Amino acid sequence: MNERLFKAVEDRVDDLVALTADLIRFPTVNPPGEAYRPCAEFLGARLRKLGFETEFIRAEGAPGDSDRYPRVNVVARFDGRSPGACVHFNSHIDVVEAGDGWTVDPFAGVVKDGRVYGRGACDMKGGLAASVIAAEAFMEVYPDFPGAIEISGTADEESGGFGGVAHLAMLGYFSKPKVDHVIIPEPLNKDRICLGHRGVWWAEIETKGEIAHGSMPFLGDNAVRHMGAVLQAFEDELFPALDRKMTRMPVVPEGARRSTMNINSVHGGQTEDFRPGLPSPNVPDWCRLTIDRRFLLEEDIATVKGEVTGILERLKRERKKFDYEIRDLMEVLPLMTERDAPVVKAVAKGIMEVFDREPDYVISPGTYDQKHVARIGHLYDCIAYGPGILDLAHRPDEWVGIADMVESAKVMAIGLNILLRGTTD
Ligand SMILES: [Zn+2]
Repeated sequence: MNERLFKAVEDRVDDLVALTADLIRFPTVNPPGEAYRPCAEFLGARLRKLGFETEFIRAEGAPGDSDRYPRVNVVARFDGRSPGACVHFNSHIDVVEAGDGWTVDPFAGVVKDGRVYGRGACDMKGGLAASVIAAEAFMEVYPDFPGAIEISGTADEESGGFGGVAHLAMLGYFSKPKVDHVIIPEPLNKDRICLGHRGVWWAEIETKGEIAHGSMPFLGDNAVRHMGAVLQAFEDELFPALDRKMTRMPVVPEGARRSTMNINSVHGGQTEDFRPGLPSPNVPDWCRLTIDRRFLLEEDIATVKGEVTGILERLKRERKKFDYEIRDLMEVLPLMTERDAPVVKAVAKGIMEVFDREPDYVISPGTYDQKHVARIGHLYDCIAYGPGILDLAHRPDEWVGIADMVESAKVMAIGLNILLRGTTD
């Protein structure tokens, strides 16, 4: 037990709560990407006071970036007394819109009953605040530490991270030798280590038809009926096959420990925007469907795509006049950091010290910014670890527990001690 480090964190509880509430008060709602600059500047000013050097990087040209909604990121770095490894804590500062059903003001930073409430409390301003406090406590106890600590507040995670971590990674901010270990304090619960995520393939399928008068559909060719045949084949063949594919990845919740596919949308034919009035009596000559396929380490993306195009090709052979196009919208490969990676072992040791038990190792069903760190930065010593209960994210009356933040700040401080000083003492 590292009593000095623990005490240094506990001494800062009020500060931790105040920092979380202050961060929540910036309504960094994305889309559209509100208040990024003041939030990043606030965080930067806070870290500068601790001696960090700060940089503000706007992702000009990124999706959504404009003078009204600039994608502003902050990266802060503190170099220790001697050279060594660099540990980077990365948090996204954007939040999803508040939505309905709140009993408190979502942007007031309300503190009550041992919790801080607000949009982004758990996802993930509480985690960001915990990492700042962890760094501060560590720097106080070990002022002569070797290596460096970086803390970033980045934009747009909720919309794919292109104006945030992806942009910074392309500029080299998430690569060696600048950075060695990355911890993303997403709300995965204080005693769990998230090693990565499943893969994603989004695609749009379009079936073709021929327009004709609705009273004589035999003169045309109905694109919606062709799409019906696609959906029928998915129901009969693809969904049952996906359901049988289980993974060794420890995905939570349990239901996501297999391949899944969602039909995101289907649209076809003439506009539905005819009210008041009547729809136009036409045979639809197009129908479009978007799919969201989540896949496993055990699957390769060529096979994942082949399962869908195989069905489409067969329909083309067997079904009269069937024609289609398919377009990739997004692909992200599955990721899983090894359990013996340095950052995993260091945080696991922290969890054992604080909770006196082994951590749970989990995989996220959906992706987060770790994908950019790996794919663009080629840095694989990366995990998500932070306070907050995942199920509360994006919901009304979102909150983060103060005790949970304190405990996970202790875990992070121990992680820093192991990664930078090579010891828990
Ligand atoms: Zn998040």
